[in-house]
Formats: sequence, C-alpha cells, structure tokens
Amino acid sequence: MWDVIVVGGGPGGAAAAKLCAQGGLCTLLLETRALPRDKVCSGVLFGDTAQALTREIFGELPQTVMVPPRYLRGQAVYVQGAERSVIEQRMPITWRKDLDFWMVQAAQKQGAAISDSTRAIDVSQASDGCCVRVHKRRDGSTQDLKARFVIGADGAKSAVRKSLFPGLKVPYNQEIRECYHMAFPLEDAYIHTFYDAVLKYWFIINFKGPYFLLEVSGKLGETSALKEKVVKPYLARQYGFDPKTVPLRLDGTVEAKLYEQLFSRKFVPAVGNVVLVGDAAGFQLPTGEGIGTALMSAAKAAQAVLAAAGRSTAAADIYLDLTRGMVDAIKELHALAVKARFTPADDPQVTVERVVEMMKASLRYVA
Ligand SMILES: Cc1cc2nc3c(=O)[nH]c(=O)nc-3n(C[C@H](O)[C@H](O)[C@H](O)COP(=O)(O)OP(=O)(O)OC[C@H]3O[C@@H](n4cnc5c(N)ncnc54)[C@H](O)[C@@H]3O)c2cc1C
Repeated sequence: MWDVIVVGGGPGGAAAAKLCAQGGLCTLLLETRALPRDKVCSGVLFGDTAQALTREIFGELPQTVMVPPRYLRGQAVYVQGAERSVIEQRMPITWRKDLDFWMVQAAQKQGAAISDSTRAIDVSQASDGCCVRVHKRRDGSTQDLKARFVIGADGAKSAVRKSLFPGLKVPYNQEIRECYHMAFPLEDAYIHTFYDAVLKYWFIINFKGPYFLLEVSGKLGETSALKEKVVKPYLARQYGFDPKTVPLRLDGTVEAKLYEQLFSRKFVPAVGNVVLVGDAAGFQLPTGEGIGTALMSAAKAAQAVLAAAGRSTAAADIYLDLTRGMVDAIKELHALAVKARFTPADDPQVTVERVVEMMKASLRYVA
C-alpha cells in the first residue's frame, strides 16, 4: 500500500513525486515509457513562474540539461503582412529528454520509487483506498497497485482522467515535429512563432545545437497536409527552404483543449483522492506553454495530498480550492487568445499586436 502513486514521468509527475516524497509520503512514480524518454515540445522554460518553480522544486538548472544556445533572448512573432515583433525574455532551452530525466532523478533521490515501462490502464476508488491497474511492458504482466492517493500527471491523453470521466469528450489539436540537421536562416537565440489568423494555425521554428526544429500545430487529422501544403511552401518562398529535404526525425503528439469544460466546471481536475495535474488536468496555457503550469499544479497537488493525509478531508476538496486561481488566470489568457484569433483577417498589424499581448500575458502568468 503506497501513500501516493503518481502516474506520468513528465515535469508534473516528477515535481509531484519529489514533493510528496519530501513531505514524508511513501511515493511511487509510474511511467509508461522507458526512461529517459523524449517529448514533442520546444523545451523552453517560458516566463518567470516556470523558471522560479523549477529552481524551487529541483534546484538550479544544470548547464548539461540545457542545449545550445542554452538561454534564448526571447520570442519572435510573425503574422503574414505585418512587421515581425520581438518579445525580449531570457529563457532556458532544453531537450525534454534531458529536462524531464533530470527532474525524475531528483524525485528518485528524494526517495520516490520509479517504475518505468509501466502503463496505468485504469484507476478506481473504494472506501479502503485507490487501485491503479498497470501493465508492465517488460514482462507483459498486469498488476493492481494500491495507494491512498493518486496523482494523474499522464499528459494530454491521460488514462487517469479517462477513468474519472469516462464520458468526457476531449477536443484535441495535433502537433507534428520535424528535426533537421542543417542551418536555417533565422537567429538561434529566439524561438520563432508564426501565426496565421485566417487558417487559425501556428507553427514554430526553434534551434537546438546543430538542429533546427519545425513544429506545426493544427486540427486533428489535418496537420500533415497543412505542413506540406501551406507551411513548407511558405518557408520555401520566405527562406529558400527546400520542401523536399528529408527530416532526420519526424514525430508528433496531441494537445487536449479542455478550456470550455474547465471554465464551465463540466470537468473538474480531481475527484475524491485522485487529482490531475498539468496537461492531464487541461492546464496547458492557450499559447501552448505547459511546463510551468504542470509544475505549479503538481506543487498544489502535493500540498493537497499532504494536507489530506493528515485529516479525513478528500484531497480533491483541497486541490480544487488551491487551483481555482490557476483556472481563473487561464480563463483570462483564453479571452486574449480568442481576441487574437478573431482579429479581422485584413488587418495583420492588429493581429500581431494582439498575439504579442497574449504572449506577454502568458509570460507573466502567475496564479
Ligand atoms: C509542439 C509543442 C511545443 C511545446 N513547447 C513548449 C515549451 O517550449 N514550453 C512549455 O512550457 N510547454 C511547451 N509545450 C507544452 C508542454 O509540452 C506540456 O504542457 C508539458 O509537457 C505538460 O507536462 P505534464 O507533466 O503535464 O505532461 P507530459 O510532459 O506530457 O508527461 C506525461 C507523462 O506521462 C506518461 N504517460 C502517459 N500515459 C501514461 C500512462 N497511462 N501510464 C503511465 N505513464 C503515462 C507519458 O509518457 C509522459 O512521460 C509544448 C507542447 C507541444 C505539443
């Protein structure tokens, strides 16, 4: 019988496991993939909150966890037909494989047990505690693990969320990433965000050492065509990119867009003694960042579980109270995102100003 089982070895899971172990709880972290694992992500610690939380929970980010150019100077924003706009902000850039593994190792050093290649299939609750059914990839076995509390930090397609809300319809965006081992004529000290107000998609170019990465976000099932038919021809026209270049690596992921459900409270990220954090809880910011909110919600989840362990209150009651400010702050950002999206398409300058307003508000995100 564990005090707490944390599902997921991303920033949210690593932070929750470290803080629970630090608080004296007997903690197990489950990760479906073999560690270290990569994640489709720009790997940037945007904003002061994400950077401060990383420092508070895990300590100073080592140079070895960052990838050259290590610190970005900021974000460059492009809207077709408008002047490029630059937001200056110093922020570390990493491969998620290195960042997340550093965080998981910190949880392990703090005393949390780590079980990788272990997929949570289902979570149930009874009067004597929670049960997490797992599939162990290494030997193909299925086991039932028991804990007083479960923290679901298992990302956009969360199995824990699905167990709590089997009927919830989750709208997903799709992201496709291509990694090229070649130069690209943009500055590597900036993350470059291209925003299309007409087609309502965005793509990002960032640099990690000798690689340049293209990340395209669109509607589920439409992103590949968007990348080939819209993004690459645009890059060919603007930057002389050869659309036939074969990437070194191609991968992808989805993002859960749970804003309407969170704001209307049709979905709440905790029930009884099972709480959800980070992307599993729908806490990714409308601008795409989610490491900072994963850390913030994980810290609140650990706080809730530690408080509930000492009394008879359910962790959900404490956690939902602690995260109310986060939801309100995301709601304000969402309103700015809607405003940027509904800018008249014939006024690109207004669009870029509104996108920058939204991004600056994201960088200031505190709850
Ligand atoms: C293209 C792109 C670029 C992005 N760039 C940035 C950025 O630069 N900065 C930023 O702040 N955010 C960025 N984000 C968002 C960021 O990646 C996420 O918000 C963040 O990773 C959320 O952290 P998390 O811990 O909640 O979940 P995750 O990092 O997704 O971790 C979840 C973990 O759970 C594991 N898991 C899943 N299912 C199970 C299961 N059933 N059992 C056990 N384990 C399971 C997964 O393998 C994974 O390791 C980006 C997202 C995308 C798609």
